Amino acid sequence: MKKILTIAALASAMFASNYAHSTWSYSEKTGPEYWGDLKPEYKICKIGKNQSPIDISGAVSATLTPVNIYYDIKAKTFLNNGHTLKAEMKDGAKLYIDGKEFRLLQFHFHTPSENTINGEYFPMEGHFVHSTKNGELAVVSVMFKIGRHNPAMQKLINNMPKHAGEKKNICSANLKAKDLLPKSLEYYRFNGSLTTPPCTEGVRWFVLKEPVQMSAEQVKEFEKIMGKNNRPIQPLNARVILK
Ligand SMILES: [Zn+2]
Repeated sequence: MKKILTIAALASAMFASNYAHSTWSYSEKTGPEYWGDLKPEYKICKIGKNQSPIDISGAVSATLTPVNIYYDIKAKTFLNNGHTLKAEMKDGAKLYIDGKEFRLLQFHFHTPSENTINGEYFPMEGHFVHSTKNGELAVVSVMFKIGRHNPAMQKLINNMPKHAGEKKNICSANLKAKDLLPKSLEYYRFNGSLTTPPCTEGVRWFVLKEPVQMSAEQVKEFEKIMGKNNRPIQPLNARVILK
């Protein structure tokens, strides 16, 4: 028994060190300013014109169709990938928009927020990442503000993978994606990109207007593990933000 544990610990340490040598980070010579130069396939981080995150201000009123979400599905695993804490979903959670079906793959977090609203940062932002069968991407973003203790977020905190490369099975925590959404699903909409390399563009962004509350202590638990993992604001260029 002892031997098995030792080998497992060693494997985990090796895994963690691989993560530590990841090509990009949030600081110094591998930080956001340099992402576009680190690898040819990250070039769009530097030359893209529709990059995320952005400051959401000057949004134009439009008749937006309600965001049609089916999130009554449990998260399966909770992973620390050295950049973020990411929950991977069981199959079945969906977003329907623009006549297309997007499957919810995972959700993950940034401290502090990446997008800002009228110049204001939130202590934390959650990204729900979806894809169609053809690989079109959509992100639903939820802002978190300091307030009441959040029981759904506590399920994640209780199962937090503390080390890079660590992944926990969280099926028994019984956390559904819908538990993390605010009451109102009104949103800001714009085109953007992934906020991490390779910064792929053509991502439909839906930032929910109503923030979700969690306690300062709970935010701290995420911060403690992830550190500051938000990419700086990117220029809007020719894009329009709809509300
Ligand atoms: Zn993200």
